[in-house]
Amino acid sequence: MNGGKFNNSDTDKIMHDLDNAKPDNVLSERSDKDKFKGISLSKGIGIGIAVIHRRHHNIVKIIAEDKEAELHKLEVAHTEMNQDLDKKFDSAKLGMGEHVDILEAYRMLAKDKGWYKKISDHINGGLTAEAAVERAYEDMWKRLSGTSDNYMRERLHDLRDITDRLLGYLYGDKGDDNRIKEADNIIVVAQTMGPADLMDYDYSKIKGLIIEDGTPTMHVAIVAKALGIPVISKIKGIFQEIKNGELLGIDGDNGYVFIRPSDSIRQKFNKQLAEREQLQKRLSTLRRLPPKTKDDFRINLYLNVGLNFDLDYIKTTNCDGVGLYRTEIPFMSSDTMPDVEQQTQYYQNLLDKAGRKKVIFRSLDVGSDKLLPYWGYGGEENPAIGWRSIRITLDRRAILRQQMRAFIRSAAGKELNVMFPMISNLSEFQEAKETLMLEFEKEKKRTGKIPKKINAGLMVEVPSVVFQLEEILKEADFVSVGTNDLAQFVFACDRGNPRLIERYDVLSAPFLRILQAITVLSDMAGVPCSVCGEMASNPIEALALLGLGFRNLSMSGSAFGKIKSMVRSTRIEDISDYMNILLKSGRRTVRPQLISYANDHGIEIY
Ligand code: PEP
Ligand code: MG
Repeated sequence: MNGGKFNNSDTDKIMHDLDNAKPDNVLSERSDKDKFKGISLSKGIGIGIAVIHRRHHNIVKIIAEDKEAELHKLEVAHTEMNQDLDKKFDSAKLGMGEHVDILEAYRMLAKDKGWYKKISDHINGGLTAEAAVERAYEDMWKRLSGTSDNYMRERLHDLRDITDRLLGYLYGDKGDDNRIKEADNIIVVAQTMGPADLMDYDYSKIKGLIIEDGTPTMHVAIVAKALGIPVISKIKGIFQEIKNGELLGIDGDNGYVFIRPSDSIRQKFNKQLAEREQLQKRLSTLRRLPPKTKDDFRINLYLNVGLNFDLDYIKTTNCDGVGLYRTEIPFMSSDTMPDVEQQTQYYQNLLDKAGRKKVIFRSLDVGSDKLLPYWGYGGEENPAIGWRSIRITLDRRAILRQQMRAFIRSAAGKELNVMFPMISNLSEFQEAKETLMLEFEKEKKRTGKIPKKINAGLMVEVPSVVFQLEEILKEADFVSVGTNDLAQFVFACDRGNPRLIERYDVLSAPFLRILQAITVLSDMAGVPCSVCGEMASNPIEALALLGLGFRNLSMSGSAFGKIKSMVRSTRIEDISDYMNILLKSGRRTVRPQLISYANDHGIEIY
């Protein structure tokens, strides 16, 4: 591995030269005063005209003079709103996926009889239709605003949105704006937003979304992601800062918004957009080519799958299989806990789509930011290190057993790969694996329809596991590194906290050394090891992973082409040598050095 391209005396000079290198992307220009940093909820870049999404209606008249007239007004507005919503939803080409379920749930909420009755009751109590609509929302807000239940908070967002929408109809303002109709490329700017609001716009024109008060689990973010729209949130005051019609640039890869971008930034955006278009064209030509490095190392490229939408990528990318199926996603978008039969259908559907390709199912990884609407979690001070993931399913064993049963049934006659998340020590893995094997034995007796082979593995995402890896590897058929969680625990740094975003980097010696230890130990044990965290979806980070010895990467479908072209332009021996130098760096990050290295060696890192 250490081919010796660099010797020690070279090292200092190289480190010095490269330390001054700057990454060549839109965001390297930090001097721009109209550049704002937020959190990215969906990746991609876009440039367009700001469209302020604001429906704020001051309620002037509160007490009704004619109750019947108000009830009639409500009925007309409510009917018209629902008819328009039905039309919008039916004509929108939404494809298939969880985002459709979310929009359906929104449509149901708009038609909810209980909500309508509450408004009518307030009118009967003497309020105008507008005041009654607002009062019905306030009632609900008072009940739910203090809840720590994410699902209920999202419902409250949806209800606020429907309330505003209905008020618009009552005031004769249905959200039609000529400016929106005329612009070809728009960036929608909202304080908050409901999922159906996207349907107010022709979403082929939406090049980005800025939501001041947004969270990653917010429904609109999930819908936007499925539609390929970049989203940025958590920039305090941005909603006031941006004016309708202003030019905006949005960099969802790095979480930046540019207001009235300078000519040079605009050029960079346009260049990147043109490059991305070119890249898409080039990637289609790469589809049939193998993911081999220049020095002939075959790298296995897998997909991370969650939304139904992602399943299309299995065919379009020509991947080696699914390296991570996040089974919690269908659980999250369902209103009740899916039973064994429903789960079996989900998993079978995925296996059918994958054909002969390998699929790794991850057991339910809920808790923390991934909450199920029908489960109470109790308030936790630190949910990321709380009762989550395998800790829940080992405690509530019936859930784990049902899921294992569904896995086994769906994979009858095929190979079944099951991966357990958030494992902290050997005994947890043993317990989980025993549960899997118990269900296997039962199914064998019951129907005899069983998978032809079962492999059990785990995610390496809790640091303690790294220190017991040798023992664990004797019992695991494979491991996969969850760099998202591993990094947050290694640095003791909440990955959702915007204040900490630039403080620690996965591309720094401490983290890279941990990753190297994992791959070296796995190689020694002869156990396949992959990375399925976001690092594998980011070309420069994936390059570092190759240099550390990883040969299996699992990534999001939209990153696949970029990673493949990085792989095909890399020489493993060279990057391995260089990583050995960087592993000794005392710098906060070696990202600039790696970017310069890639540029100097013709490695494609888009
Ligand atoms: C990870 O933690 O890196 C991972 C892949 O799991 P998730 O992002 O689903 O927590
Ligand atoms: Mg994780």
